[in-house]
Amino acid sequence: MVSSARAILRGIAADGGLFVPARFPEPVASLEALSGMDYRALACRLMTGFLTDFTEAEVRECVEGAYDAKFDAPEIAPVVKRAGVHFLELYHGPTLAFKDMALTVLPHLLKIAGRKLGMERKIVILTATSGDTGKAALEGFAGVEGTEIIVFFPRHGVSEVQKRQMITQAGDNTHVIGIEGNFDDAQTGVKAVFGDTEFLRRAEAAGAVFSSANSINVGRLIPQIVYYFHAYLSLLRAGEVRSGSPIHVVVPTGNFGNILAAYYAERLGLPVGRLLCASNRNRVLYEFLRTGVYDRNREFVPTISPSMDILISSNLERLLFALSGEDPAAVRALMAALAKDGRYAITPEMRAGLGRFYGGWASEEETRSAIKEVWESAGYLMDTHTAVGYAVYRQYAAETGDPTPAVVAGTASPFKFARDVMAALDPRYAGRGDFELLQEMAALTGGDVPAPIRDLETRPIRHRRVCRKDEVKAAVAEVLGVCA
Ligand SMILES: *Cc1c(COP(=O)(O)O)cnc(C)c1O
Repeated sequence: MVSSARAILRGIAADGGLFVPARFPEPVASLEALSGMDYRALACRLMTGFLTDFTEAEVRECVEGAYDAKFDAPEIAPVVKRAGVHFLELYHGPTLAFKDMALTVLPHLLKIAGRKLGMERKIVILTATSGDTGKAALEGFAGVEGTEIIVFFPRHGVSEVQKRQMITQAGDNTHVIGIEGNFDDAQTGVKAVFGDTEFLRRAEAAGAVFSSANSINVGRLIPQIVYYFHAYLSLLRAGEVRSGSPIHVVVPTGNFGNILAAYYAERLGLPVGRLLCASNRNRVLYEFLRTGVYDRNREFVPTISPSMDILISSNLERLLFALSGEDPAAVRALMAALAKDGRYAITPEMRAGLGRFYGGWASEEETRSAIKEVWESAGYLMDTHTAVGYAVYRQYAAETGDPTPAVVAGTASPFKFARDVMAALDPRYAGRGDFELLQEMAALTGGDVPAPIRDLETRPIRHRRVCRKDEVKAAVAEVLGVCA
């Protein structure tokens, strides 16, 4: 067992496994008692239960440093009722995607963790991104003293806006590298660096220790639990639920981090009915939830929801740990099978624990129709990821007739994916670029282009480095000036 400070600082355990809470905090006794809290107070209350070696003042320092005017909504994560569901808008932070909810906190957590452990070395944040994590992490760590951040993104697998956001990043401690491969290649390359003890030792001798800003870092998951409580309390205050009655949570899923946080929220006493895990065409999770077999052996399909184009969902490992009755040997065997054969099957006993989950998926056509339908019927514009969640919720509702209120995680601003969102509304926009369409989207929705991307097209490009998928370690070594 390690302290939370050490788990956050390391990012991933020495044996390649993921850290999980050794013990969950006591479930929340009274939701009413939380309902008067604003987002920051709620975050302090819930995060303190996990960060057992942080003082309350330290947790408050992290929370207040994160959820401030960087967010363009005073509620931090507004909840909006439209088209028969409640959208939990998680994209009001500095990079317009839900990754900001945790990555504005993580640098503060790391700084304090380093202080607690008397760390003298530089912390190197090594991160693979499917598009949104990278920018959110760069934004969080740029200019943070004592840190260096290196981000690998799939060169041809992100939207124009996502790419521009990253390659124009300022800050001498930031490094952005395009990889000739997909997200899984980037993630595998980064994980291999964490597993290369010889290399880590050389880096350490040169004064650097690695940590991760990916959702493999438990310091990302903990802040994500908060917004599910926040959503519930918003519904409670609005009279949309009675205290204690359940809500369904719908999450457009890739690496399984966001939905795992909802699962953890349920363990903390949040009345969650079902967890709807929504996938795009890369539907490994959908099949896993239906069959108990996880099989990544298939073609990787780039889609209009690139942040969900993932075949190896890292955080599933943490769910498997819970399903196995916290049996590390069972999880190790499954992860070994995944590494060796790209496939594993869980036992019937483990499958029995999946009852709360509902797996669904939406094709690109269904995703586009959902965007158009919700815009035309409710005047609400979803991005291409949120729309996958909404489409899956519709399938579920049609299948079951279940009237339980549903909260759909709104994971990105439509402005981040302007081209595909506009083309879904009207084919005459097809073929035009993201940047061209920002103004038109603003005119359509009657608002402004969000400030974080307003002048993006004219910002100078600061990062041009590219590498092959087998050169991740070499690239890291070069940035840090150590031998590969
Ligand atoms: C990262 C991301 C997802 C997937 O979240 P996971 O925690 O990886 O499952 C979905 N939508 C958007 C917009 C994202 O950036």
